[in-house]
Amino acid sequence: MLEQAGIKPTPNRILVLSDIVSSDRPLSLSDIEVKLESLEKSSVFRVLTLLLDAGIIHAVEDGRGIVRYEICRGEGSCASENLHVHFYCESCNEVSCFESIQTPVVNLPEGYAVHSINYMIKGICPACRRKSGAI
Ligand SMILES: [Zn+2]
Ligand SMILES: [Zn+2]
Ligand SMILES: [Zn+2]
Repeated sequence: MLEQAGIKPTPNRILVLSDIVSSDRPLSLSDIEVKLESLEKSSVFRVLTLLLDAGIIHAVEDGRGIVRYEICRGEGSCASENLHVHFYCESCNEVSCFESIQTPVVNLPEGYAVHSINYMIKGICPACRRKSGAI
């Protein structure tokens, strides 16, 4: 993936990217930092910026305004991919990916070029609802 995007696959870059690839939800900088203890936060951040610029990953803002990262499946830009809906649990702060639910198509007035779409639904996840006895 890195070579395809014209990026030299250094060990740090491979570590960060495979962490994001293997996750089923978007990861925040601190999520990645905790998992990759051997890497400094600043190195993780540098790799993330590089991957973002290359269009390999994209950023999703969660319900607290924290940026999370996930693999970009668009060709060259997020606007060309089928973006999916995310759910933010206000109780456990976890973000779920609904890969099978696409974001609704919005017809913007002429002249606007879309680069990314952030579709985040907020609420309580089933695990937290179960814990509180709601279901
Ligand atoms: Zn994308
Ligand atoms: Zn929850
Ligand atoms: Zn997602």
